Amino acid sequence: MSDPAGEPLVVWSEAIGAYDFGEEHPLTPLRFGPGIDLLRAVGATRFLAPPEADDAQLTRLHDRAYVRQVRSFSDHPWQPGRMGIGSADCPAFFGMHEAAATVAGGSLAGMERILSGTDEHVLVPGGGLHHAMAGLASGFCIYNDVALAIARARDAGHRVLSVDLDVHHGDGTEALFRNDPLVLTFSIHETGRTLFPGTGGVEDPAGPDAPGTVVNLPLEPGTGDESWVDAVETAVSALAERFQPTLLVTQNGCDSHAWDPLAHLELTTGAWVRVTRFLDGIAHRWCAGRWLATGGGGYEAFRVVPRSWATIWLAMAHREPPEETPAGWRARWAEATARATGGEAPPVAWIDPPGTARPEPPGVTAAARAMTGRAIALAAERLPRG
Ligand SMILES: [Zn+2]
Ligand SMILES: [Zn+2]
Repeated sequence: MSDPAGEPLVVWSEAIGAYDFGEEHPLTPLRFGPGIDLLRAVGATRFLAPPEADDAQLTRLHDRAYVRQVRSFSDHPWQPGRMGIGSADCPAFFGMHEAAATVAGGSLAGMERILSGTDEHVLVPGGGLHHAMAGLASGFCIYNDVALAIARARDAGHRVLSVDLDVHHGDGTEALFRNDPLVLTFSIHETGRTLFPGTGGVEDPAGPDAPGTVVNLPLEPGTGDESWVDAVETAVSALAERFQPTLLVTQNGCDSHAWDPLAHLELTTGAWVRVTRFLDGIAHRWCAGRWLATGGGGYEAFRVVPRSWATIWLAMAHREPPEETPAGWRARWAEATARATGGEAPPVAWIDPPGTARPEPPGVTAAARAMTGRAIALAAERLPRG
């Protein structure tokens, strides 16, 4: 079905919930309940069910031996850990290959819709598994769906700008394209000195055949909205101008929020409202509207993740967010939210009110400015004009 009304497509079905490392794991499929419900509550009606990616698609980037290993764990989870699977971060579970291949298939299917011109903007809330490497599971990620979608676009002749907003460095996506001149990977994240995976330094070079196509912008713990928004807008504008992308892929992990339990940035939903609108502008200015956005990290499943996904969708729909989250949505998720958070209620305000995040120390503001300047200067030095 084409998209006459301009409503962004959401790639999702219940099958995505099978990507589940178990009850004790922070990446909980419980987020899809309130998350998809909020998307529907703000008006999303166009959903595409993700197909399972096949081995030919997966091995475009992943090693054959690795896919075989994932399949083996999928059938026999109780074997000694290998290739990153069986660790605390990526415990094996029955059906893990099928579940991870369905996440990958979702981002690939979304990309097909963009490449065929059927859709301009596509949101894949279950995607964004950016830590997975060619032959290694890492950081809750088995197959790198974002990278597979990027590879598909790049193989179709596009110059792809990858913008990774997750609080963790997009190390897998970067590694898979660091020597590819058609893909520029930009990652803004909390510095590796204080957060997994410990990489993503501003000086890190790209591969010899693709100078300047790796850009990292590490931020200090405590970085807040103003510094983060300014860093994203300044860096992405400069990079787009220089690289001249024809297709935009964003990983919109929302673990940068002040309430996220795993990381130490101090963002609020207001930052994402501004940045998703900005990214929509980038997609139209440089990429004829071609924009695939995935979810990503985000471990405050009830009070943060739903508004993050819906904020992306609203920007894609060219709509302002409502002042308040829908009352019906709050009522439906009150009990589950209280249970998950020890008594908190679903948020009323769409944009978090002042006081949600801790104020940013002046030294952190100065560090963000300096880091943004350095990232842009390095790109100007290293990256040939597109
Ligand atoms: Zn748009
Ligand atoms: Zn993350």
